[in-house]
Amino acid sequence: MAMGDSPAKINLLDLDIKGIEALAVELGGKPFHGRNLLKWIHKHGVTDFEQMSDLSKKLREQLQDKTEILLPEIVFEQPSLDGTTKWVLELPDGQRIETVHIPDGDRSTICVSSQVGCALDCSFCSTAQQGFNRNLSTGEIIGQVWQATRELGRPPSNVVMMGMGEPLANYDAVVTAMDLMMEDLAYMISKSRVTLSTSGVVPALKRLSEDSDVSLAVSLHAPDNDLRDQLVPINKKYPLEQLIPACKDYVAGDRRRKVTWEYVMLDGVNDSISHAKALIRLLEGVPSKVNLIPFNPFPGTDYKTSPAERVEAFRERLMRAGIITITRKTRGDDIDAACGQLVGKVRDRSRRQLRRGQSQPLQVTQP
Ligand code: SAH
Repeated sequence: MAMGDSPAKINLLDLDIKGIEALAVELGGKPFHGRNLLKWIHKHGVTDFEQMSDLSKKLREQLQDKTEILLPEIVFEQPSLDGTTKWVLELPDGQRIETVHIPDGDRSTICVSSQVGCALDCSFCSTAQQGFNRNLSTGEIIGQVWQATRELGRPPSNVVMMGMGEPLANYDAVVTAMDLMMEDLAYMISKSRVTLSTSGVVPALKRLSEDSDVSLAVSLHAPDNDLRDQLVPINKKYPLEQLIPACKDYVAGDRRRKVTWEYVMLDGVNDSISHAKALIRLLEGVPSKVNLIPFNPFPGTDYKTSPAERVEAFRERLMRAGIITITRKTRGDDIDAACGQLVGKVRDRSRRQLRRGQSQPLQVTQP
C-alpha cells in the first residue's frame, strides 16, 4: 500500500454471521442490517451496495467507504464431455485455483479448494507436485461457492472440500466458510451435504468435532502404517493408531453418521485381496463407508490405475464384510478435473523442488 492510502478495506466475504452483525453495528447500524447484508451478498448475489434497498443510505455509504466484496474471478471455464465443468479462478494476488462442478441427476456437487497448492506431498497426487503457496482466506473459499451459485443459477446441493489443499491445515478459514455454506441466510446446504476431506491432521480433526458437524471423509489409501507412510506422508506424524480413533470419535453419538474412507486404487501397490482384508480389520467397529477411487494418472507419475476386475474384487470383499463400498466414477478426467488432477497455477514457496534435489530453479508460473 502506498503512503497516504486509506487502510485496506474489509472484504465482506471473509465475515460470518457474527462478524457481519458486529460490522453493521460498528458502522452505525443494527445487527439485523448485517444479516440483511449477508443475504444480499450470498443469497441474492448482489455486490452493488446501491441495490441493497433495505439498508439506509448512510449505511450504504459507510459500506462503500470501508468495505468491499472481493471475489475470486473465473478466468477460464472448461466443460468436460461428461458434464463436469472445471473453473479456473484467479485470486486478487494473481494466484490461480480450481473449482469443479459435478452434476449427477438432481445433485450438483462442487469441489472446493482450500489452499493454493498443497504442502502434504502425497506421492500419487498432482496437486502435491505443484508445491504449496498459501492458505485461502474465508472469502476466497466461500467466493468459489458464490461463483458456482451464480453460474448454476442456484446453490449447489452438495459441497466437498476436496479440491486443492488440505482443509484442516487452513482450519479457521475453512470452518468459517463451511458455516456460511450451511447458514440459512446464505447457501442453506445441510450439514450432511457439506463434506470435509482430510488426509488426517489428527489434532485439527479433534478440534473440528467440537466446532462443526459437517460430514467427514478421510483419505486413507492404505491399511497399514508402512504403506501409508509412503503414500500419505503425514501418516508419519499422525499414524493410524491415532487417526482411526479420532475418526471414530468424530461420528460417535449419531447412529446415522459414517466416516467415508477414500481409497485410491493403485495397480500393484494397495489393491490386493490381502490389502482388502487388512482394511476390514482396520475399520472394525468404525461406522464406515468406503469410496474406491480409480487412480487418475497425470504426467510424470509412475503409478498406474488398477484394472477394473481388481477394483471389483476388492469392492466385493469389503461388501461381504458388511462395509458399504462404492467405486467412484471418474469424472472430468478429460479436462484434468478429476481427483488429484487439480493444479491451478501455483508459485511454490515450500522449496519442495529444491528439496527433491532437482537442478532447475523453482518454477515461477506467473507471467
Ligand atoms: N487434502 C485433502 C483434500 C483433497 S481430496 C485430502 O487429502 O483428503 C482429494 C482426494 O483425491 C483425496 O482423497 C486424494 O487422496 C485423492 N487423490 C489425489 N490424487 C489422486 C489421483 N491422482 N487419483 C485419484 N485420486 C486422487
